[in-house]
Amino acid sequence: MATESKGRLAGKNAIITGAAGGIGLETSILFAKEGANVLMADISAPALEKAKAKLLQLVPTASRVETIICDVSKEDQVKGMVESLDSWGGLDVIFNNAGIMHAKDDDAINTPEDIWDLTMSINVKGVWYGCKHAVQALRRNKKSKGSIINTASVVALVGAATPQLAYTASKGAVLALTRELAIVHAREGFRFNSLCPAPLNTPLLQDWLGDDVAKRARREIHFPTGRFGEAVEQAQAVLFLASDEASFVNGHDMVVDGGMTKAYVTPE
Ligand code: NAD
Repeated sequence: MATESKGRLAGKNAIITGAAGGIGLETSILFAKEGANVLMADISAPALEKAKAKLLQLVPTASRVETIICDVSKEDQVKGMVESLDSWGGLDVIFNNAGIMHAKDDDAINTPEDIWDLTMSINVKGVWYGCKHAVQALRRNKKSKGSIINTASVVALVGAATPQLAYTASKGAVLALTRELAIVHAREGFRFNSLCPAPLNTPLLQDWLGDDVAKRARREIHFPTGRFGEAVEQAQAVLFLASDEASFVNGHDMVVDGGMTKAYVTPE
């Protein structure tokens, strides 16, 4: 008797960008656990191989897991990545998650123009390309539903007195473009939602904070929970948005922040 594949994403073909990093890897692991076929994409080849090895160690029953080197700021690479899933039966889910927060990103006066442009190319154009080629793939493969999840940030919703202006502007753009695409493609059955993570224990933030206790405390104080989030807590939300359980969730800004953006003062 043939064994039926089980899980909340059974039979779905998914691409995750930034898959070698904090949120991307945790999401790849969860997707694989839930029965998805996963294409892990990242710009860093060694990190990607390490990430895949970790996934396979944790999920030895994974149905199909492959990797692809893709710089999301290059449209030909994104196109090639998405088209490669046609041979799997076509894309069902894409998590446009790759993003950077550059150390030289600063306020209106001090942000260098090249850093502004680099941030926009990866964080905004990268998401646009992912959405564009996902829509074309869903249509090409005659899919009646598809889920596109784009990573924004809480800084798209609240201002920070520790500015990273290019990053903040890029994440605001992700929220806005996701909302619009959600409306444009709703009658095709394609859902678009944003993920808004609060600061997390991932390399993106933790490498930048380093062992600067004051810099860390300046941020931790704003959490009602008294702690940064964990990448896997974001991945759980992405899993829901990717699954058919979220069939009526569209154009939503999924804020996963431990209540941070709802807090005025936090418990002592
Ligand atoms: P991370 O640095 O751990 O992972 C990001 C991954 O993206 C890395 O593996 C990196 O190699 C890859 N990447 C960078 N540039 C790329 C490119 N041009 N093409 C393809 N891949 C590229 O970061 P993370 O914390 O997992 O962040 C993932 C997403 O979450 C980002 O969009 C980030 O802005 C967002 N986010 C993170 C936090 C946080 O505190 N960590 C908070 C809010 C939002």
